[in-house]
Amino acid sequence: MSNIPNNNTRVFERLSDAAQWTAMVKLHKTVKEYKHAEVYAKLEFTNPMGSVKDRIGRHLIRKAIANGRLKPGDTVIENSSGNTAMGLAMMAVEYNLKCKIVVRSTTAKAKLDALRAVGADLVLVDPTLPPEHPDSYNKKVHTILSQHPEYYFPDQHNNLDNNETHYLTTGPEIWQQMSGKIDYIVAGIGTGGTLSGAAKYLKEQDPNIKVVGVDPVGSVFYTYFKTGKITKPAGYLIEGLGDEELIKCMDFKYLDDIIQVSNEQAFKYTRLLAKQEAILAGGSSGAALYGVISLIKSLPADKLYRIVTIFPDSGNRYLSTIYNDDWLLEKGINLKEV
Ligand code: PMP
Repeated sequence: MSNIPNNNTRVFERLSDAAQWTAMVKLHKTVKEYKHAEVYAKLEFTNPMGSVKDRIGRHLIRKAIANGRLKPGDTVIENSSGNTAMGLAMMAVEYNLKCKIVVRSTTAKAKLDALRAVGADLVLVDPTLPPEHPDSYNKKVHTILSQHPEYYFPDQHNNLDNNETHYLTTGPEIWQQMSGKIDYIVAGIGTGGTLSGAAKYLKEQDPNIKVVGVDPVGSVFYTYFKTGKITKPAGYLIEGLGDEELIKCMDFKYLDDIIQVSNEQAFKYTRLLAKQEAILAGGSSGAALYGVISLIKSLPADKLYRIVTIFPDSGNRYLSTIYNDDWLLEKGINLKEV
């Protein structure tokens, strides 16, 4: 348990090598009323491009280069809420690749600007199109690939190397940082790669560790886990979480429970994190914290539970949205008091 490297003192050959050993911090004021739980958050926004997805960018691209599928000059294409895109853009710079990203036009402007700054070519799609439409978020990549079969599509939603990334890195880091003493891991589900991969590793170390996913209202995962049925997807504002259809990387066999979160609940806890912990994180972090607090409330106060959660990206990307009262009011959410 004691071989934890101090990332801050290390020198890396390449920027992408620094995407590891993110800080784990204990939460205080946001959870202070719950005496039967200690909550630890893994700050994935301390990765070089600012999110948990730097890890898969590195793993997927290095694998494709190693097996000869990708070579300098080739084009990588992916659909992403912005964070995987940043990880892939980093790798494109590192390996002289071109990077084309299909992204919803409503994605926070700061993310789109950051992507353009690092050279990604953006294909904006209308998020209101139904999933079966050829220009929808989920289908547009395939529409482009039918014209450009030579492009490399990592397919973060269905490529199990996504989960392997977290099995090999995020899971072991959590295990070591927590000295193997963990009762629960709670995290948002986007592709499901982070939670499924880390959960597989953690349950192998200690099968008593319980895994709880967090899913936005409007996504299909919650109802599928609870009832086995697929609901009609509906739009929501939390970026990076949920989906309109089932995807391979979300491996439900590692999930013990799932908690549903609304836009308002997620954004309220995102803002509380900033105010009460000085952790300026994105909306999926607030969603995860909401999940943690719902879980704690459901636990008997018979012991001290150690709960780990993951904060995937930084609030800097959402200053004009979640942290902007007027933007929230336009969406019918009043969080002026938070
Ligand atoms: N939060 C944010 C902001 C994300 O971009 C993502 C990735 N879609 C996640 C959470 C979820 O991570 P994963 O895809 O590994 O489930």
